[in-house]
Order: sequence, then C-alpha cells, then structure tokens
Amino acid sequence: MNSPRDSIAVDTKSVQALDSAHYIHAFTDTKALATQGARVIVKGEGIYIWDSEGKKILDGMSGLWCVNVGYGRKELSRAAVAQMDVLPYYNSFFNTTNLPAVNLAKAIVDVAPDGFNHVFFTGSGSEGNDTIFRMVRRFWDVKGQPQKKTFIARHNAYHGSTVCGASLGGMSYMHEQGDLPIPGIAHIQQPYYFEHGQGLSEDEFGLKAASWLEEKILELGADKVAAFIGEPVQGAGGVIIPPRTYWPEIQRICAKYDVLLVSDEVICGFGRLGTWFGCQTLGYQPDLITFAKGVSSGYIPLGGVLVGDRVANVLIEQGGDFNHGFTYSGHPVACAVALENIAILQRENLVERIRTDIGPYFKQQFEALTDHPLVGVANACGLMAGLVLVKNKATLEMFAADKGVGMVCRGHLFGNGMIMRAVGDRLIIAPPFVITRGQIDEMMGLIRSCLDAAHADIKGRGWLQHSA
Ligand SMILES: *Cc1c(COP(=O)(O)O)cnc(C)c1O
Repeated sequence: MNSPRDSIAVDTKSVQALDSAHYIHAFTDTKALATQGARVIVKGEGIYIWDSEGKKILDGMSGLWCVNVGYGRKELSRAAVAQMDVLPYYNSFFNTTNLPAVNLAKAIVDVAPDGFNHVFFTGSGSEGNDTIFRMVRRFWDVKGQPQKKTFIARHNAYHGSTVCGASLGGMSYMHEQGDLPIPGIAHIQQPYYFEHGQGLSEDEFGLKAASWLEEKILELGADKVAAFIGEPVQGAGGVIIPPRTYWPEIQRICAKYDVLLVSDEVICGFGRLGTWFGCQTLGYQPDLITFAKGVSSGYIPLGGVLVGDRVANVLIEQGGDFNHGFTYSGHPVACAVALENIAILQRENLVERIRTDIGPYFKQQFEALTDHPLVGVANACGLMAGLVLVKNKATLEMFAADKGVGMVCRGHLFGNGMIMRAVGDRLIIAPPFVITRGQIDEMMGLIRSCLDAAHADIKGRGWLQHSA
C-alpha cells in the first residue's frame, strides 16, 4: 500500500483557508483558529490517523471516544454500501419499520443487562438524553405523578450539546452561553476524590459523594424528583472514576425515594470499561441507558436509549402515543453499520479482551506514570484513563489555573504525533479497543517523552519555583 501521503494529495494551506472562511467548528474560537489553521486529517488506519502533511499520529482518544474498532474497517464500509443499495432510508413514524433497525434493537437487547428489552433510536447522544428527559416525564405523567419532574445531575458532567443535553450536563462554560440550564434540573457535586476527598478514604468518600444526592432529593422533595442521571465514569469532565462504593449507594438512594436511575453510557457503553455497559463494571442497575458513539464505532451517526422494563411496561401498556422521534430514528444504513460493529466486537472478543487482557495491561502501564515529576495521580478504568499534572508531587499542589499547563502538555503531545486531551490540568486518554500491547508501549513512550519535554518547558518558564 502507498503511504497515506502519496494516496491523498492535499494542499494544506488552501484547505485551511477555506476552513476558516466557511466552517464554524464545534467548541472552537473560530477567529483564533484562523490565525494558526486547522490540522487537516485525511486518513485513518487501525489506531493511527494521518494529517495532510503526511504526519502519522497515534489517536489516543479514538476520535472522540468512538472509533473503538479502529479506523479503516472495510466490514463497516461494506455494510453501509450494501444497505444503501437496497434501502438507503425509510422512517419509523407511520407504522413502518425496517430490517436493520429491528435486528439492531434485538442485538442491543441481547448484550444489554437483564431487564432491558426495548430500544429507542436517535441520531446522537444528545438526542438520546433529550429523549430520556421527555420519556421520564411522560412515565411519571402516565403513572399519575406528574409533579415528579425534576432531574438531578452533576457538576462537570457531559450529557451533550442540545438545550436539554447541555442543561443536564454540568459544564459551567456551557451554561454561561444561552441562559442554561433550563428549569427542572438541579446539580450536585461530582464524585472526584482528588478534589473533594480530603481526609477520607476512597470508600468513605464514595458514600459521602452519594449522600449529596440524598440531601438534594430531600431539599427538593422526593415527590418532585423524577430521575438522577450520571455517566458511569465521567468522560469529557476529565475521566473522573468514582470510588467503588459510589454507584451502589446511588442506586440504594434512588430506590429509597422512587427516583429513576439513568446511566449515560455514550462513552462507557459497548465495551469501553471491559463490560458491555459501564454500569456492569461499576455495580448498579439503571432504569434507562443512553448510548451513541461506540454503538457504531463512530463510522456513522447513531444513538439511542435502552429502556428498562419498569419504564417500558408503563409507557407501552398505558402510555398510548409517545409524541417524540427523529427523522433519522432507526436509520437503516446507520443501523446496518452498528449491527456489523457489534458483530466485530463479538467476533474479535474485544470487550472481554479489555476486561481480562489489554485493559489490565493498559492500567498497569498508565498508572506507572505517577513516577513522573509532573504527574500527581494517574488512574485507569477499562480503556479510559486520566492523570493530574501537579507542581509539587509531595503535596499534590496544582499549578495556577491561568498557566494552562494542561494545554502546554497537550501541545507537546500533538507536536510529537500523540493525541491526548487536556481537561484543565488533567490529561486524558481513551484508545481504540484494538490497540495491542506493543502499541500501548509505543504510546507510553510517546507520553513519557512529551511529559519530559513539557517538564523542561515548564521549568524554563519558571513555573516550578518553590516546589520540592
Ligand atoms: C458525547 C457524549 C454525549 C453527546 O453525544 P453527541 O452524539 O455528541 O450528541 C452525551 N453524553 C456523553 C457521556 C458523551 O460523552
């Protein structure tokens, strides 16, 4: 095979000029980007991508937590072409259905935890959470408890970018734009041990963080609270892995006050933590599950909701019409690709491999980064991991936020062909499931050399003064 550079000839400068002239990017300062020019990604294969300058980059983020089976899988492109040739589109509004959507609903139910027998399809994770917001309120209406409306979510959660998704999320920089959150949503503190756990063991802190839910329910009145929503492990918030005591206690509290439990598994679903759904790794049984990203390995937009029997039985037996849905709900091409993606996960045993082999190896290698002078704490769960950059390893003192040390490190990583994301001064990673041990070694080598370069850079700026 030719190198990707030979096969895709691109004039980078002219693409960048067109990009800044016409294309408003997600979560980006368009004006600032225009001065430096966007990086043009032209090709992917396995765990690597290439830019228009021919540079090979190790994609430690699986795109945006989604390209789980790796780039360049012909099985997936063939599934899309085959379905497009037969039936590229039909809707599911008018008492109609299509084969890929039916088969995918069955395939998802087959890998879901017990008690999940129904699926609602959307085009994205945000739409999945919007669907849950409406579905849960409809559930309580049908049950004759219409006053149970309020959702409780968490600060620093990410639940998408639509009005409802951004409102459920706990990102203050999103709330600031457009008067969010919408009414009927309350937030509690996240279970982030490093920041909030001082003086407690991790297990004690998990119980304490869960108790904030009980306090909020009592403050609002249990008769007003419809549901609690959380990510098993917070992704965009910086890979915040809760103590193992947290989720079972959350479940106990939800049951006690008759509050539905929603697991936003847009990242954790379909294997990332080494079980098909993250709730299975973290030990709880939700009533509803949001999925997207990994269901299609990002090859095509698809999301949805797994509806547990408690909710499904009420909505289906007593609810009548549910006046909600999207043009692309159950899109046959998207569903055909997702079906093949699940078949790949099963054929290649990728989920079990994370649990028993590549996940433990990744965890061991990643957590060993704590010996680096810049790293305070490093934790992994399945194939998700994050580390905290610190000024002083002994006291775990962090750098001043305005220094942007995370972005300094990210710059060194990007410059050296390694994609890792910076969330404040946390560096996070979530590689494709197909990564090998050899590639993990390569990735850790890149991370270490970039951390060394960043350390020298930071020292040169005088930011390490007064530290041990
Ligand atoms: C990405 C993400 C979403 C939003 O999904 P989109 O497909 O971007 O709308 C929701 N929840 C979580 C946990 C996510 O990571």
